[in-house]
Amino acid sequence: MQIQKLPGQRKLALALSAALTLAGPVSAKVTDADILNDAKTNQDVVSFGMGTQGQRFSPMTQINTKSVKNLVPAWSMSFGGEKQRGQESQPVIHNGKMFVTASYSRIFAMDAKTGKKLWKYEHRLPDGIMPCCDVINRGAALYDDLVIFATLDAQLVALNQDTGKVVWKEKLEDYKAGYSATAAPIIAKGKLITGVSGGEFGVIGRIDARDPRTGKLLWTRPTVEGHMGYTFDKDGKAIENGISGTTNATWSGDLWQTGGAATWNGATYDPETNLIFAGTGNPSPWNSHLRPGDNLFSSSTVAIDADTGKIAWHFQGTPHDGWDFDGVNEFISFDLKDPKTGKVIKAGAKADRNGFFFVNDRTNGKLLGAYPFVNKITWATGFDLTTGRPNFTPDGRPGNPLDSADGKKGSSVFSAPSFLGGKNQQQMAYSPQTGLFYIPANEWGMDIWNEPIAYKKGAAYLGAGFTIKPLHDDYIGALRAMDPKTGKIVWESKNYAPLWGGVLTTGGGLVFHGTPEGLLRALDAKTGEELWSFQVGTGIVAPPVTWEQDGEQMVAVTTGWGGAVPLWGGDVAKRVNYLEQGGSVWVFKLHNAKK
Ligand code: CA
Ligand code: CA
Repeated sequence: MQIQKLPGQRKLALALSAALTLAGPVSAKVTDADILNDAKTNQDVVSFGMGTQGQRFSPMTQINTKSVKNLVPAWSMSFGGEKQRGQESQPVIHNGKMFVTASYSRIFAMDAKTGKKLWKYEHRLPDGIMPCCDVINRGAALYDDLVIFATLDAQLVALNQDTGKVVWKEKLEDYKAGYSATAAPIIAKGKLITGVSGGEFGVIGRIDARDPRTGKLLWTRPTVEGHMGYTFDKDGKAIENGISGTTNATWSGDLWQTGGAATWNGATYDPETNLIFAGTGNPSPWNSHLRPGDNLFSSSTVAIDADTGKIAWHFQGTPHDGWDFDGVNEFISFDLKDPKTGKVIKAGAKADRNGFFFVNDRTNGKLLGAYPFVNKITWATGFDLTTGRPNFTPDGRPGNPLDSADGKKGSSVFSAPSFLGGKNQQQMAYSPQTGLFYIPANEWGMDIWNEPIAYKKGAAYLGAGFTIKPLHDDYIGALRAMDPKTGKIVWESKNYAPLWGGVLTTGGGLVFHGTPEGLLRALDAKTGEELWSFQVGTGIVAPPVTWEQDGEQMVAVTTGWGGAVPLWGGDVAKRVNYLEQGGSVWVFKLHNAKK
């Protein structure tokens, strides 16, 4: 019976689809399969990271080491208004539409081929929001017919992709307590996954899973040891789902109750292990003398089971962090061929703010390698691969204020990297073709000292002072190609200003990235030689993406200088204060690609 019915059903479906096509645009919905296959499909970009594993690798070859010299602008669109601040957003593209978030919690939809604006949504922000590091946003998630993004007042907004009408809104947390949200949500096995920002205000980091169609919570997992996780039933009733870690095991006293570990840079998802990998920020406050112990799960990679919301494993890059070494950097899944046995290991890698490039077994978190990716690291000499712990440098930590004569200021140390990190939010990329990671790194240090501090809701909670300084006269940024098997830097491309934009790598043998000086660059993935560049007129602090539009390979990047450097960069901020702000999207394609 079923076999006989099928042809008729198919005809009906075809007729319906033809009728809809003739009548107007069909809203082809984004499915879980679209998201799981994103890294392999050229016609769309439906996830942050160009694939939930976050590799930012496209197999496309139309633009390659030979043809890239013919890359020219296809279109550009301005975000307009007076709100030109840092633009860190990764565009997502589906069904001929591009969706880009912008500063001050705005989102735009445009025709992906022409750049024609289709709609925009400007979130109404209350007075008193507390974003630490500029009014940025890193991008939206697509699911079904929705486009979903997080706002500076710690809400989630889901809009219809075609109309820009709000379908649902949910509060993530209380912005008056210092919570905000800037990361792009991701979809893991049909669940909307988000984190929170606010590590400088003593918030509690956590990862939430929601029904993307309704915004209703499914589970929540705190990333500070001692806090209870919950699952939620159909009526939204919270059911206890186990405490994260063991209360007071790595925190003495009660500072874990305002312990930080903000998940402000979002997460990646590996379908092979069904694990969500969240990076966590500094423990609060910065003054580490107030909180003896490792302070789990701060400054760590935390692997969470997507189904249960339970922590499967964790790896802490900076135990008992005293330098604001947020470990929020993306953890990218990749296959590592063991040089000795030839066996393929399910691995993951992260270029940590603390200056070390970590390679872990992503099934259990075991540390396989820890390699410096910056030239100067003062706080540790290396890692013990047996214990997975750093070898701390004696006297590398800023001194205890209580050891000073008046108890008001501890001894200052010069520390590298600075708290803005060997790498910060700017995403690295991995090419399975070259086997290399491409890391947008920075060389800088800081004077840092500790002061007394007490928690006050909604107030900065640091207990530290600092000045960031360049280490070299001629450069701060360096795009580095790292071999994860050996930890060797294969090539590097230096940049005067600190790099703050993410990286894209392609099957055409290219690495794309932007600079604060305004250049979108294409380098040879094997050698680092610059093959093409274009001046966009303002700094780039966002990751480029690529996709195929009607047979042509396109490259898009959001532009607009800003982010944490001008606000927190001390001497570095002064050095680059000539850079201009902006706010637009640029798209490129090959001249005469079809001929
Ligand atoms: Ca895709
Ligand atoms: Ca921090």
